[in-house]
Amino acid sequence: MDRKIMVEALKLENISIVLHRPKFPENIGSSARAMKNMGIKELLVVDPDDFDLTKIGKMATHASMDIVDNIKRFDTLNEALADFSYVVGTTARIGRNRQVIHDPADLAQSLIPVSVNNRIAIVFGREDRGLESGEVQLCHSLLNIPTDGFSSLNLSQAVMVVCYELFKAKGYIGKDFLPTLATRFELEQMYFHLKDILLKIDFIQKDNPDYWLNNLRNFFSRLPLRAKEVRIIRGICRQIEWYGNRDKE
Ligand code: SAH
Repeated sequence: MDRKIMVEALKLENISIVLHRPKFPENIGSSARAMKNMGIKELLVVDPDDFDLTKIGKMATHASMDIVDNIKRFDTLNEALADFSYVVGTTARIGRNRQVIHDPADLAQSLIPVSVNNRIAIVFGREDRGLESGEVQLCHSLLNIPTDGFSSLNLSQAVMVVCYELFKAKGYIGKDFLPTLATRFELEQMYFHLKDILLKIDFIQKDNPDYWLNNLRNFFSRLPLRAKEVRIIRGICRQIEWYGNRDKE
């Protein structure tokens, strides 16, 4: 029986945040902080109205000054995006003609295969006007964060929502914490043990034990069983056996 376990994860190091013509330096600072919280390192800023480092730093706090110190500045969005192979725009407005993704988690999942070999830019628009149509045209896909009516998020809060979903898609409960899964051999031993004990207690029919066992196999195959869990099930089988033999001794 085939069991596939997905351990693919988003490569955050290939993702950059782009702020296009932000008005307020405070939003640059708090975007840097959101990025730091969520493990995204590169911030590009295109033609800001005000790049007052004191105001930026206040919101970024000391913890995310490394991101602020490494901000790349550009005069135009075209120049900023030159090295990126995939561009996502974000918008509070839902245009009629474009395919818009309405779930940041879906976007993050869709970026997993792209992120393996490509640099990805997520572009955020200006506080008052957002991204205009010429800028939207540079994007491969568009993301809208669903809201309850009033659709316009604060710029840096929109950055946070997106960075959080990207961070989750990195699989932070990922490889390091993946428990040891049962091997095929351990699983077969468990099924053998289960069959033996279920026959002994007359739970499955003697004339067709594998039919019943197949139901159990299907059931267990839906979960990637861990080695420890297989040991627990086999322990239960042993205990049932011991219980059944108790009076015979
Ligand atoms: N009035 C502008 C809002 C700009 S808010 C407009 O209509 O577009 C500044 C930026 O924050 C936006 O350009 C976008 O990048 C991001 N943003 C704000 N709300 C958002 C939402 N609901 N979904 C996705 N991005 C959003």
